[in-house]
Amino acid sequence: MIRMENVNKWYGDFHVLKDVNLNVKKGEKVVICGPSGSGKSTTIRCLNHLEKFQQGKIFIGETELIEDVKIVRHIRSKVGMVFQHFNLFPHLSVLENLVIAPTWVHKKPRKEAIETAMYYLDRVKISDQANKYPNQLSGGQQQRVAVARCLCFNPEIMLFDEPTSALDPEMVSEVLDVMVELADEGITMICVTHEMGFAKKVADRVIFMDGGQIIEENEPHTFFEQPESDRLKLFLDQIL
Ligand code: ADP
Ligand code: MG
Repeated sequence: MIRMENVNKWYGDFHVLKDVNLNVKKGEKVVICGPSGSGKSTTIRCLNHLEKFQQGKIFIGETELIEDVKIVRHIRSKVGMVFQHFNLFPHLSVLENLVIAPTWVHKKPRKEAIETAMYYLDRVKISDQANKYPNQLSGGQQQRVAVARCLCFNPEIMLFDEPTSALDPEMVSEVLDVMVELADEGITMICVTHEMGFAKKVADRVIFMDGGQIIEENEPHTFFEQPESDRLKLFLDQIL
């Protein structure tokens, strides 16, 4: 479903991704962790062309990600992304946040867009808040709205970039619960997170990045119980 082959990226002189190779099968759940600045966000942002890369190849399904408006649009329609900061429109109600892109960008009939939006708001257990504005909701609720907004596009792949790290601790689990449900439904998922409980519960594979490289990857049990590299051991000591 996702294939990165020797992807290299530079910001000016700074070599941010170094020969990143990543294969994710349909339905697989992958967690990426690693120190701040190690290239985790850059890696997943390359997958839906929020960042360009200079060397290597990326395939989403059969489609190679190249700089072509139609290809990028096609890939973005398959790949949803949830960010650390929820990026909701503050001047629009929760419902309108979910309806605006499908109706304006994709020319979906408004009635249909509202039905879809309400369906997914219900799925993340927040349909009772549909007419409120984002700043009237808690951080956890806003992040669930952001997840619902993504789901309205019926993506095949969901990318999460530290979706709970801006939340107060008591709100983390309500977002993780929604993600666990999605995972159980079989969507392909890559999640950058330091929530190791989530990784243990959901991930088929955990990847450790440092210095722009994938240093180590394994199924969760081995990853946590028998880390090989000193860098991963040190990292786990720091976060666990
Ligand atoms: P992570 O998500 O693992 O914390 P990032 O992928 O955000 O790391 O960033 C990797 C490195 O690239 C960091 O050193 C960061 O400072 C740098 N970086 C990120 N975005 C930019 C940018 N737009 N321009 C220059 N450097 C950047
Ligand atoms: Mg990041």
